[in-house]
This record gives sequence, C-alpha cells and structure tokens, in this order.
Amino acid sequence: MKFCAACSMPLENPEYIGLHSGDSDFCIYCVDSDKKVKFCEVIFEGGVQYFMNAENHPREYAEKIVRKNMTMLPYWKDNASLCLKGEMLSNEEFSKLFCSSDKN
Ligand SMILES: [Zn+2]
Repeated sequence: MKFCAACSMPLENPEYIGLHSGDSDFCIYCVDSDKKVKFCEVIFEGGVQYFMNAENHPREYAEKIVRKNMTMLPYWKDNASLCLKGEMLSNEEFSKLFCSSDKN
C-alpha cells in the first residue's frame, strides 16, 4: 500500500493520488491545481481541521497529532517549516492513537 509522502494518508485507491514525483506519491489533498505540493502550513492546517472535525479532538491536541505525523515523514525533513516546531505527541501516544483507530 502506498501512502501520501506529505500527510501519510493511505492511497488505497488510484483516484487519491494527486501527484507522482520521483519515488513519492502525494494525495489529492496535498497537491494544488498546478500539481505542486502545497505548503507545509497548508497541509498542517488541513490535517488539524480533519482531526478536529472527523475525530472530535480539541485544536491543541489535533495540532500535536499532525505535528508528530508530519515530523516523522521523510518529505518534511528537508522541507519543514515553523508549524512543525512545537509540542507533539510522544511515540507511545501516537501509536496508541493509530492502533486503536485501525481496529474500527
Ligand atoms: Zn497528502
């Protein structure tokens, strides 16, 4: 299974792939209409909104989830911006969160 290099969304359906670049695939949500990967801040904010709306997390906690998630992706090691600096979940909190949601 492929994952979006910028937000780690599973690309289980080819329709979710917005851009293929080198060894990386990006989802349709992380790519703008010019086929460019969106800015770190934009993707970060989109992720925060997702966890607030879909998972009902408070904003502060949603930010910690997304920050942790994006910080672990190799893509952002070279492109990280200030929005990824700050408090984030620990490895344990993060794996707990995603292991439990996988069971649904
Ligand atoms: Zn993405």
